[in-house]
Amino acid sequence: MSENLQKNHTKFIYNESIEPGEHKLIQIPVDKLPTGTLIKIPVYVFNGTEAGPTLLIQGGLHGDEINGVEICRRILTNKYFGRLKKGCVIVVPLLNVFGFIYNSREVTDGKDVNRSFPGSKAGSLASRIAYTHMNEIVKHIDIGIDLHTGGGMRSNHPQIRYSKEMPESLEMAHIFRPPFLFASKMIPRSFRQACYKKGKPIIVFEGGESARFDEFAINEGIEGIMRIVKHYDMVNAVNYTQSGNNETVHLNRRKWLRARNGGVFCPIVLNGTPIKRQQILGHISDAFGNNRRAVKAPYDGYIIAVNNKPLVSKGDALFHVGEGLIA
Ligand SMILES: [Zn+2]
Repeated sequence: MSENLQKNHTKFIYNESIEPGEHKLIQIPVDKLPTGTLIKIPVYVFNGTEAGPTLLIQGGLHGDEINGVEICRRILTNKYFGRLKKGCVIVVPLLNVFGFIYNSREVTDGKDVNRSFPGSKAGSLASRIAYTHMNEIVKHIDIGIDLHTGGGMRSNHPQIRYSKEMPESLEMAHIFRPPFLFASKMIPRSFRQACYKKGKPIIVFEGGESARFDEFAINEGIEGIMRIVKHYDMVNAVNYTQSGNNETVHLNRRKWLRARNGGVFCPIVLNGTPIKRQQILGHISDAFGNNRRAVKAPYDGYIIAVNNKPLVSKGDALFHVGEGLIA
């Protein structure tokens, strides 16, 4: 974490200087809409009065995963970093502006920005967003928090994913103190893997589902972020609501329970709750209640995601379950 701890900690981002104690909105152009409207990635930079680590908080890498965008919006409108004491916080509330506009995970040509890192200058849109992000923003950071939700209608109970290869990310996960945390494999060409290759630890927050606000997940996200900035002594006063004392379960194994047949899926357990082996978690039947089959828990553990889609096909993910201990 020494790279950015220089004495004169004026930041230079996209040809703009941000002096100690200053904060600025920088807009980085990426492309135009067919109408000619220029699309820019908004970057909020808060430079502290004292030198310290630079933290990236980003949402909307997947354009329809709006809880992360909302977490950033509340942090910005409530001015939590208005008087940053130490280090620097860079907030990118919406990396995939195109997906957000079109209510889509991907950019307009169907490519996933989170499978396009580190990107290239002359590549297609997703690749250029990744390239711009790596070269204009990521090069300035020491650590980062990447905000996501479950894809489709799969709702993740608030959870942090860290990289086994980077012990710093496990430490950050504990500081964040989400309901669940676990190591997850780095996906090739993902943002987290690109940052790992640059030696920058990233934790991925997952909370709620795409295209739907989830108040609980949003609050867990904000509180976790504030625990991180507080831990690194970046803020003076902590003036946010803190539910406090929530337990974190460190999961050591996980499994997606999938539909053995198609039909109407009715979960009967709540996301985030403990489960017992062989417990009935839900049912699948046909649309008229016939041929009802139970979905059972494979082991003692917890529900960490639920598919809220009422109609499922054989093989669809129903529940994400995990086994672990309170950390
Ligand atoms: Zn995502």
